[in-house]
Parts: sequence; C-alpha cells; structure tokens
Amino acid sequence: MSTTIKNKRVRENSVPKKIAFQDRIPFSNNKKSNLPSSHNPIYQREVRIRCKYCNRSRIFDGLWQYYKHCNHNHETETKYKEHVMSLADLVIGGTL
Ligand SMILES: [Zn+2]
Repeated sequence: MSTTIKNKRVRENSVPKKIAFQDRIPFSNNKKSNLPSSHNPIYQREVRIRCKYCNRSRIFDGLWQYYKHCNHNHETETKYKEHVMSLADLVIGGTL
C-alpha cells in the first residue's frame, strides 16, 4: 500500500503548473502575440469578420471562431493560418 501512495505522490508532483497564456515567457512584459490559441486574449476579443474564402454573409464574433471555421472548412487553402495571423496583427494594431 505504501508503494501506491508513493507513486501517486510522484505523479502529482510531475504535473506541470498551468500558466496563463499572457504570462508565458514569450509573452511576458505584455507582449501581444498573433499565434492562434483559444487562450490568446487577442483571439478572445470580439471582432466581426466576414469569411474571405466562402464569402458568405456569416459573421464571426471572435478570431478564434474564425480560425476554427477556416481550420474545419478551408483546410485546402494554402495560407489560411497566415491570413488569420495577419488579422490578429490588425487587432493588435487597433485597426480591426
Ligand atoms: Zn469560410
């Protein structure tokens, strides 16, 4: 019995602590990132966008929603990730 408790303790200690996206080392000093992530505050901000590829009147409430839409429906498009990241740059710059 003592060995199982010991193993459990080891497993608990090996689990890394969760760090918020904006507090991770590449984003310290409030550096804003355009990397697609659901934890990225830039992608959580409400932005209304019309899809570039299907050109439908569907409007997205956030960049992360738009990224998921592109990842699911426009996988064959070559540079959809770069397109979404350029939109994130516009959000960081304050023009979108
Ligand atoms: Zn689309």
